[in-house]
Amino acid sequence: MYNVTLIPGDGIGPEVSKSMVRVVEATGIDINWEIVNAGLNVIEEYNTPLPDHVIESIKKNKIAIKGPITTPVGKGFKSVNVTLRQALDLYVNLRPIKTFKGIKSRYENVDLVIVRENTEDLYAGIEHKVGDYGAESIKIITKGACERIVEFACDYVKENNRKKLTGVHKANIMKLTDGLFLKVFRDISEKNKINYNDLIVDAAAMNLVLNPEKYDVLVMPNLYGDILSDLCAGLVGGLGIIPGANIGKDYAIFEAVHGSAPDIAGMNKANPTALIQSAIMMLRYLGEYDAAKKIERALEKVFIEGRVLTIDLGGNATTDEFTDELCKYVLEGV
Ligand code: NAD
Repeated sequence: MYNVTLIPGDGIGPEVSKSMVRVVEATGIDINWEIVNAGLNVIEEYNTPLPDHVIESIKKNKIAIKGPITTPVGKGFKSVNVTLRQALDLYVNLRPIKTFKGIKSRYENVDLVIVRENTEDLYAGIEHKVGDYGAESIKIITKGACERIVEFACDYVKENNRKKLTGVHKANIMKLTDGLFLKVFRDISEKNKINYNDLIVDAAAMNLVLNPEKYDVLVMPNLYGDILSDLCAGLVGGLGIIPGANIGKDYAIFEAVHGSAPDIAGMNKANPTALIQSAIMMLRYLGEYDAAKKIERALEKVFIEGRVLTIDLGGNATTDEFTDELCKYVLEGV
């Protein structure tokens, strides 16, 4: 039996989490879900959006899966997601982006992976006001953080038989910070005998839209990774289907990349696929390859049949109806 920390989140979080748990349990894998909450809804009780017992639970179980959490924009508390990544030193954000048979999207053969550095860059959160004149935000890039993220990307390429690694940067303008990232990227890719190239981030944005099929694994600093991974999600059908993982040396948190979707929260309309796909990544991380495959096949069958789809995918099924259909196929072992 596995112990996994489950943070349902808010907005549509509880609905997609409930669906994910049902689908994982249909595989027969025995998981003890330790449910803890974070975000807006717990502030009144704990005076913080991220109570200590949440972090302790993840430290104990070493593995967590999490629904989306609302973050106030431009004011209020620091993002729970960013705090968790920093507190647990989850230095990798991994997002596989693949076209799904049966889901309408602009491209047919996209199969790329974004490896985003997760702990520094402008997300270090070092900002200050400059009198009444303006504000400054400091971009931090360190050699150690560049080395470990590029090492992770090289290992990923080798372990998953991928063909090429592309480093994304803006070293033509930020010669010191992105220049350091680029130098480390070239040195470590060379040392690992990886087939590699590099690309300036604006060119990467255009090329990913024009020819996403040409890309394989891409590694980049935090901010570019945040933006390009959402861009790539759009290439294959949107945020509702893309999974993500935050991985460190000791802990891993799997999560959907979409937000809390307040416009449809509580309406039984949310598409739970992204969190279910994150659970597939989690099962693989646990070595439960058969269970992961079972869910993958069931998802593919539901999408190809196209009878029971949520509204965002052009159907009219509720979250519960979609989950029922998926569980049926997982249990049948299609
Ligand atoms: P969002 O992803 O919540 O919603 C954007 C649009 O996509 C909405 O129309 C929404 O209805 C739709 N959508 C998103 N997920 C869907 C799903 N699973 N099924 C069907 N439709 C879906 O983005 P937003 O509105 O910019 O953010 C809302 C809140 O979520 C903000 O507070 C933001 O900070 C937070 N957020 C949290 C995370 C996270 O916890 N990982 C990630 C991104 C945003």
